[in-house]
Amino acid sequence: MAERIYLSPPHLSGLELLHVQEAFDSNWIAPLGPQVDAFEQEFAASVGVRAALALSSGTAALHLALRLVGVEPGDEVMVSTLTFAGSVYPICYLGARPVFVDSEAASWNMDPDLLAEALAERARQNRLPKAVVVVHLYGQCADLGRIAALCDAYGVALVEDAAEALGASYGGRSPGSVGRVGIFSFNGNKIITTSGGGMLVADDGALAARARKLAAQAREPAPHYEHHEIGYNYRMSNVLAAIGRGQLAVLAERVAARRRVFAEYQARLGDLPGLAWMPEAPWGTHSRWLTTLTIDPAQFGAEAEAVRHSLEAENIEARPVWKPMHLQPVFAPYARIGGQVAESLFGRGLCLPSGSSLSDADLVRVAAAVRNVYIQTPLGRT
Ligand SMILES: *Cc1c(COP(=O)(O)O)cnc(C)c1O
Repeated sequence: MAERIYLSPPHLSGLELLHVQEAFDSNWIAPLGPQVDAFEQEFAASVGVRAALALSSGTAALHLALRLVGVEPGDEVMVSTLTFAGSVYPICYLGARPVFVDSEAASWNMDPDLLAEALAERARQNRLPKAVVVVHLYGQCADLGRIAALCDAYGVALVEDAAEALGASYGGRSPGSVGRVGIFSFNGNKIITTSGGGMLVADDGALAARARKLAAQAREPAPHYEHHEIGYNYRMSNVLAAIGRGQLAVLAERVAARRRVFAEYQARLGDLPGLAWMPEAPWGTHSRWLTTLTIDPAQFGAEAEAVRHSLEAENIEARPVWKPMHLQPVFAPYARIGGQVAESLFGRGLCLPSGSSLSDADLVRVAAAVRNVYIQTPLGRT
């Protein structure tokens, strides 16, 4: 059996050990420490915000972000339906209710027209949501200009889930830097990793300071342990921040490598009928964290799921596009606005192996495996 090709494995730069050694040499094997401080400063500079807070996960970062913008039990929070459950769980942690918003075809992200309608209707009924969580899917920014303008107009807090979009851009700006608060993830499958971790970013220093306090068990400034509100143990370890610094240093190279992977797939498979690549919207740069496409079985002769099975048989890991949150049994009680676009992307979508360390030989193997599926269909044989 040929060696397994993973969807999006970690890719070390070699610089990580240098900083990990610094952490060991200084005996800062602790949550917090000089590596965390340096990682936060370097990350804030890279994203173009005043403050960054290194945390234990992207999900923890989103939980804090929603708490910061005042989400409370019973509130509504609008969120993209085409995403990973980590975008939604923190809404439920706070006892609030998610409202799922469908995707637009241009970016696969939250449809600003649907959001506009939903906000207008809720404004008339005097029940605006407390926040909007916009997700930047698979390395591409949502239509942030329009979505931010809508949130401003209605006075609703905008939180950016940029877990999948570090290194992308919207009109020259980084995702995460436009809303009140932005969050990122350094889970093992993301474009850079700390093996597990996250970051919260904000331009508002007071907001960031409050997040910093809540993330460290909400200790009041007192020599004894004094607590006036409920906190969390969400800070990142100094050792993991050291890994993050070695990863962040090569972010631009990682984006270039992922974009190259995408271009190679397009060049090698672009002639096959029925394949449609995730579009790159005109407002920015797609990091191509994952190469995703849809497959029209009427033209290609096989469903996306059949292609995934064939790849698996060759020890190649591919994944369906996220199953929309409004179809998840756990979120069945909650409202949704539209959903057909996301459902169609889920039904026909496939994510191909997209790691920045993917070799040319790997690319050839994956492309050949996809082409073989087509060749063996009745359409491909003729
Ligand atoms: C990965 C991811 C998260 C969660 O990040 P973790 O670090 O795994 O907790 C949240 N939202 C999206 C869109 C993600 O892809």
